[in-house]
Amino acid sequence: MNLGNKFPWYSAGLHFECLQCGRCCAGPEGGYIWVSRPEIRLIADFLKMHVKELKRKFFKRVGLRLTIVEDPHTLDCVFLQQTKQGRGCVIYEVRPAQCRNWPFWEHNLVSPGTWNSTGRKCPGINRGRFYSPEQIQDKKKNKKWWRNGKT
Ligand code: SF4
Ligand code: SF4
Repeated sequence: MNLGNKFPWYSAGLHFECLQCGRCCAGPEGGYIWVSRPEIRLIADFLKMHVKELKRKFFKRVGLRLTIVEDPHTLDCVFLQQTKQGRGCVIYEVRPAQCRNWPFWEHNLVSPGTWNSTGRKCPGINRGRFYSPEQIQDKKKNKKWWRNGKT
């Protein structure tokens, strides 16, 4: 398969291994973590909450979409909390696709420069597990993760 044109710079694959530091979920920069309707339902079931209450407490509307609320002071995602195991995502098992696909986001993959500069925030970049171009592509497209069980 000729991946040369499709993957102009990462055709030899990339390395990434999450170190569970939580920096990608934290401020100081704000951001949007978009959630789809099925994901909201999954999070509601996981937290044993009604969808209405969940939306009111943890999501806000931006345009036509819903995004997760951030702590107003730190700009951390509200689901990044202190747990018995340390600081982590309290909805990890049902976290949205956008969180699952990190750091293989379109704008992080524009060039080696954008990838390496993302690595300044995410220490898991360029270390550990090897991802082939096909696996990276798979990650990027994995929007309906609950259907195929892929993480
Ligand atoms: S910043 Fe990177 S290493 Fe840290 S939790 Fe996020 S993905 Fe994992
Ligand atoms: S939902 Fe979880 S994984 Fe996603 S940004 Fe919030 S704390 Fe991080």
